[in-house]
Amino acid sequence: MSEQLAKELQLEEENAAFPEVVAAAEGPFITGENIDTSSDLMLAQMLQMEFDKEYDAQLRREEKKINGDSKVSISFENYRKVHPYDSDSSEDEVDWQDTRHDPYRADKPTTTPRRGFIGKGKDITTKHDEVVCGRKNTARMENFAPEFQVGDGIGMDLKLSNQVFNALKQHAYSEERRSARLHEKKEHSTAEKAVDPKTRLLLYKMVNSGMLETITGCISTGKESVVFHAYGGNATEDKVIPPECAIKVFKTTLNEFKNRDKYIKDDYRFKDRFSKLNPRKIIRMWAEKEMHNLTRMQNAGIPCPQVVILKKHVLVMSFIGQDQVPAPKLKDVTLSSEDMKKAYYQILNMMQQLYRECNLVHADLSEYNMLWHDGKVWLIDVSQSVEPTHPHGLEFLFRDCRNVSQFFQKGGVAEALNERELFNAVSGLNITADNEVDFQAEIEALEKMNEDHVQNHGKKLSTFSSEGDPPIYDE
Ligand code: ADP
Ligand code: MG
Repeated sequence: MSEQLAKELQLEEENAAFPEVVAAAEGPFITGENIDTSSDLMLAQMLQMEFDKEYDAQLRREEKKINGDSKVSISFENYRKVHPYDSDSSEDEVDWQDTRHDPYRADKPTTTPRRGFIGKGKDITTKHDEVVCGRKNTARMENFAPEFQVGDGIGMDLKLSNQVFNALKQHAYSEERRSARLHEKKEHSTAEKAVDPKTRLLLYKMVNSGMLETITGCISTGKESVVFHAYGGNATEDKVIPPECAIKVFKTTLNEFKNRDKYIKDDYRFKDRFSKLNPRKIIRMWAEKEMHNLTRMQNAGIPCPQVVILKKHVLVMSFIGQDQVPAPKLKDVTLSSEDMKKAYYQILNMMQQLYRECNLVHADLSEYNMLWHDGKVWLIDVSQSVEPTHPHGLEFLFRDCRNVSQFFQKGGVAEALNERELFNAVSGLNITADNEVDFQAEIEALEKMNEDHVQNHGKKLSTFSSEGDPPIYDE
């Protein structure tokens, strides 16, 4: 199938999944009192779903009765009304926020092979072997951005020399940057898209249960998520609902999550779970991850949205802003030079806290994901954040530092550290290289050291820091 045709089919599928357009200006689209016709439809769908589930339960009872203890059994599976994806409700109904335990904190690496070599005597093959190394380089191509075409090399038994691999990697990075610029343009030109019927059902349930009062409209549609504004409803015994909420719906079209593959595929915290999950569950995992990361940040006192509840791929959190108007992104606000300097030092401290206290690297930190509200900076959008010892964690941190440095240097903050100084200040590492290429090489060497440590010792390094805590910078 040609790529063009595949793209067209994908587009068709997406349009079918996101058929309706809801603009913020249209006013509330799900309210407690004023239920419009689409909510009637929703209600009907909910009832139908309940009815279908009952029907399936009855079917299962009959199946059991007919089969009894017989060794030969017949299955009524084909007569089920509810697709198995939708009926894994026992797990669906789990309120993930109540999972006190943060599964991503666990240090559970997989190790292959433990010893770093195979064979014996003269037949020994170490990890430095040209063939092994070449194969490893080929496999590492998977870490390139998904839109970067690497052909069928990964599937074939291709062995890439270090030289070829490094050239490809440089090219992949520049392609990634180019495609990010293009995407930015496209994002602003495409019409807003709302959510699929199942998600609307979920949102409706939240309003119906009184947790939310009104969902007023959409405040952002991005590549991987749609964000809505809502007025909070009634508090329950164990939950206080903020007066205004933001609802982040992680998009369930499957091509979108592929863009983020590289963040979790190599994440030790995910390795065990990732391969066993279906795509729908992986998308829920993004939402779950954002929730856990926000909770870590809350605990460290970093200004960020407070988690209200997580249901499947829908995360409800406190709204940063007021009267339905979201706080502006740092890129859209004009700050006085004094505020700009204040914002800079605040971010420097937040990056250090994030690294040291939360054991996280934001991994998408820029003026797009920082909001200015109440005279300070708030961090958002942390579903992709990883631990520093993620195989690419330090590279992500360096990228974050570059964005922050450039933004504040361009914004006229004379005190702003350059990206390398900022990286050292945040991580406490003391990388001395005085140019970007060497610096990056040292970062990758550290990451590799960690990877090798995993291979040889079955666990990652507990921390990269050898210099003690990084210095605290203050105004
Ligand atoms: P994406 O992955 O689509 O970038 P974000 O989490 O960055 O998702 O959210 C997209 C936009 O929605 C943000 O730029 C911000 O304007 C708005 N937004 C997200 N969360 C909140 C919040 N809690 N309060 C106010 N606005 C928010
Ligand atoms: Mg964002």
